[in-house]
Amino acid sequence: MQIIDAHAHLYDVPNYLRNLIQTMDEFGINKCCLSGLGKIFNCKTNEDVRKALKNYPKRIIGSYFIRPGRSNPNEIEEAHNQGFKMLKISIPTKAYNNRSFFPLWKQAEKLQMPMLFHTGIVTIFQNGQKENISSWNMHPMRLEPIANAFPNLNLIIAHLGVHWNEDAAELIRMRPNIYSDITGEPDGWRMRADNIGMKKWLWWEGAFKKLLFGTDVFYSKIPLILKQDKIRLDNYNIDENTRKLYFSKNILKLLEMD
Ligand SMILES: [Zn+2]
Repeated sequence: MQIIDAHAHLYDVPNYLRNLIQTMDEFGINKCCLSGLGKIFNCKTNEDVRKALKNYPKRIIGSYFIRPGRSNPNEIEEAHNQGFKMLKISIPTKAYNNRSFFPLWKQAEKLQMPMLFHTGIVTIFQNGQKENISSWNMHPMRLEPIANAFPNLNLIIAHLGVHWNEDAAELIRMRPNIYSDITGEPDGWRMRADNIGMKKWLWWEGAFKKLLFGTDVFYSKIPLILKQDKIRLDNYNIDENTRKLYFSKNILKLLEMD
């Protein structure tokens, strides 16, 4: 079965890219959607991702990082011209749904670039304390006005909202253009959610059809994430067709690569 990691980052660690590709080879991950969140998240930059994309065009799908309030629509167009196919969005200066950010979403819709939004409490990073970052700005419900205003744009909620699981799940149930990943650290919110049972939030028939696979962890933890996800799908008796959607078909459809 084809596997695409829809949520991967290029960490600022020597030989990270080579190790990531090697891990993907070893564990049967065909492609990953890679973004660089910059120094503040101990990551490389968009420019480094662009180079990675050139070196591994068949393995990497470029995901361009924007920070609403700091990024502009022209930049998105330029990124698209350089081969980036989706956007990764985090730490906005105001709430995601602030009207002043709408030109960004309009541009993304025009270029048909799906948008992966960080949602939930954000990890405090180096030098980030002074940035006036509020996780409230990244509440999943902030995406509702964007999804409504841009019906031809596809949105992906990262981490099923971390601790706002109920809101994130109801959004993917009620809005055709909102999806979610269930990424995160192996011992983070996923552990809590598994203890309770994810079906508490993903309760309706076909809920897993709106999810997509991603990792969002350091390369060395990717095998564990993949293993946990396979066990999870087994535990919830997820059928073969839904597994294919989860592991590759959903993201390929959003990227118009199917
Ligand atoms: Zn991430």
